[in-house]
Formats: sequence, structure tokens, C-alpha cells
Amino acid sequence: MPIQRFSHQREQIFQTVQASCKHPTAKDVYDTLKPQMPQLSLGTVYRNLSQLVEEGKLIEIGGQTLRYDAAVAPHTHFRCMQCGAVIDLHMVPYDATLDSVELGEKHIIEGHELMFSGICSACAEKQNMKRKKRNI
Ligand SMILES: [Zn+2]
Ligand SMILES: [Zn+2]
Repeated sequence: MPIQRFSHQREQIFQTVQASCKHPTAKDVYDTLKPQMPQLSLGTVYRNLSQLVEEGKLIEIGGQTLRYDAAVAPHTHFRCMQCGAVIDLHMVPYDATLDSVELGEKHIIEGHELMFSGICSACAEKQNMKRKKRNI
């Protein structure tokens, strides 16, 4: 039954995002699942991911490439400008008062995203190593 196959695929796609702590892109999910699901297409991954977002099971993190997060409770992200990694910042409290902020316009606010950017610890370490080598 095709319907069952689709929901199975969606479950696999959901679990792949959930198992990753790296906020995978659709391509990351596709690359992970392709070896075990040879019939999978990138379009199917995109379609299922956006359905999962609509169902509230995943959140979308905007940017040059959309990334997906199975942690749907509001939290703050940090984006590395060098390697593009998106990392959870659990120590930054989510400020719910911002969700009810008065903008003086007629938009309906349902949430907000806070994104820090900079250089992640892994990239910073690499940079330091390069610098050290140069100094020798
Ligand atoms: Zn980085
Ligand atoms: Zn996250």
C-alpha cells in the first residue's frame, strides 16, 4: 500500500533528523538514508520534511540552506560563519515576552528565533592551530 510506504519513509526521515544533533539539511537527511532506501529521492525528502514541519514535529531553521531540528521547544541557535554548522545554545534562556511584543503593526506574532553567529569551537581551534604553525 503506497500510503503505508510514504508514512514509513516519513518516519525514517523524522528519526534521521531526531538522531542528528547537527540540524541536518534535506541533503544531509537524503545522504544518510539513501544507502538503506535506494528508492528515495531528494524531492521526497523535501516534501516529507515540510509536512513534518506543518505537523509541528520539526522546526525549520532559515538561512542560506534550510536546516531541520527535532527539538521543537523554543531554543536559541548559534551559526558558524565558517563551516555553516548550527549548534544549540541551551544556556541562553528563551525570552517568551518577545513573543507578545507590540510591533505597532497588524502582524500576528507566534514566536521568534534568536540566532547567534560567529566561529564555532571546532573552527576556532583549527584557526589557532594554523596560527601556531605559522609562528614556529
Ligand atoms: Zn565551524
Ligand atoms: Zn536546535
